[in-house]
Amino acid sequence: MDDLHPDEDVQLENEESLDPKDWEAMRVLGHRMIEDMMSYLESVRERPVWQPIPASVKQKLSIPLPLNPQKPEDIYQEFLDYILPHPMGNIHPRFWGWVIGTGTALGMLAELLAAGMNPNVGGADHVANYVERQVLEWCKEMLGYPMEASGLLVSGGSMANLVGLTVARNTMSGFDIRREGLGAAQKPMTFYGSVETHSSNQKAVELLGLGSAALRQIPVNAEFQIVLPALEVTVSKDRDDGFHPICVIGNAGTVNTGAIDDLRALADFSEREGLWFHIDGAFGALAALSPELRPLLSGLERADSLAFDLHKWMYMPYEIGCVLVRNEANHRCAFLMSADYLTHAERGLAGGPLWFSEYGPQLSRGFRALKAWMSIKEHGIKKYGRLIKQNVDQARYLTYLVDNAPQLERMAPVSLNIVCFRFKGGSSDDVDLNSINQEILIRLHEQGIAAPSYTTLSGNYALRVAITNHRSRREDFELLVRKVIRLGEDIFSERM
Ligand SMILES: *Cc1c(COP(=O)(O)O)cnc(C)c1O
Repeated sequence: MDDLHPDEDVQLENEESLDPKDWEAMRVLGHRMIEDMMSYLESVRERPVWQPIPASVKQKLSIPLPLNPQKPEDIYQEFLDYILPHPMGNIHPRFWGWVIGTGTALGMLAELLAAGMNPNVGGADHVANYVERQVLEWCKEMLGYPMEASGLLVSGGSMANLVGLTVARNTMSGFDIRREGLGAAQKPMTFYGSVETHSSNQKAVELLGLGSAALRQIPVNAEFQIVLPALEVTVSKDRDDGFHPICVIGNAGTVNTGAIDDLRALADFSEREGLWFHIDGAFGALAALSPELRPLLSGLERADSLAFDLHKWMYMPYEIGCVLVRNEANHRCAFLMSADYLTHAERGLAGGPLWFSEYGPQLSRGFRALKAWMSIKEHGIKKYGRLIKQNVDQARYLTYLVDNAPQLERMAPVSLNIVCFRFKGGSSDDVDLNSINQEILIRLHEQGIAAPSYTTLSGNYALRVAITNHRSRREDFELLVRKVIRLGEDIFSERM
């Protein structure tokens, strides 16, 4: 057969692509989208925080696979009609649920630019890798972490913890765990963190094949910080019982109450005991950006690995988190693969010094660095420090409002940006109060007033306000307190 005349089922007469047939129309549509989204961000305060999604919308999002094309203008219209009106609400000034960031206008545009360039930031010699390296350098500098450390931008705190704890396990195992696997361990390895440690750390320990029981849960004091003597006793007992303690996880800002462990004491202890010291600083680590708050995080710079988010307290659009590892060789050892198809070249596109795929589980990686690079340049790091301090001051203001309202009761000390409280009215029946406060929260959400979340503290249901929001103002907290009291009293009288 003649090579120039391929099989009959090869069709190259009218080759297709996914590019617009009408670039001008796509350009016009793009301008409209930017126009619409700018107005949407600008007017966010005027809308309810959240609204229940109507059944009709859910139905529209449960249709069979589209086989044939639809016009981009029509698809965009559908987006405007039933997707955009039903957001999570986290860009709203009165969203304080879980620990969720707000996003920014330039961050949104940066995502557009990153998707337009669409590089694969797993490696090779192209500029996105240098942007990521720049952002990682800034991250170390802004947190006071050693500049020789290595790092990686990841999807968020969960992935950052997984990467950090993987490096911890591999480095501390004492054998070639990548080759031999866990079965070759002479003693079961154990991790340590307080009972307030975020669940993503447990997930990581499970994914590492160690089992959740290997994460020892150490009690906390009244400030929700790890109790050091309890940690010491547990580690020493584990050694006696034939376990292999390898890693202490310190919390820089717990998710329940924002508590910060005594990081210096944990660093000293880890050093003395020859343990890896990992810090989960998902949001709390960023408090180091404020000169006034920085002392709270003393010891952060001594972590062997440090996990934190940029999509929470640096207000960048999802997803972006970061992990830093003090010893670059440890970091790379945990993830480097040498496959023929990944061999680096001396020169050309396949060369270059930056192969981020060698520092984490992902090979193909997006250009999340761009939004960080643009955002940090847009505002400068000092402004982030001021905004973080502003959120902490707002938490103190809310604390003051709660403490001065006889109908309310604060449920935990406020160490940073999280305030836990409940409506108490005249009741002292915890079971009653749990159900009343549950109902208050649902009504706050359903009426679109505000979106705190909740937690359970010593068995009691608490409204939980976590402030990582650059749009919140003092009056938003005043409104919250007024509404909680009003709703509480309504529900109380309905139940009489
Ligand atoms: C949010 C959070 C995480 C998880 O981070 P994601 O970005 O949601 O993956 C881990 N630890 C703490 C303390 C957190 O607040």
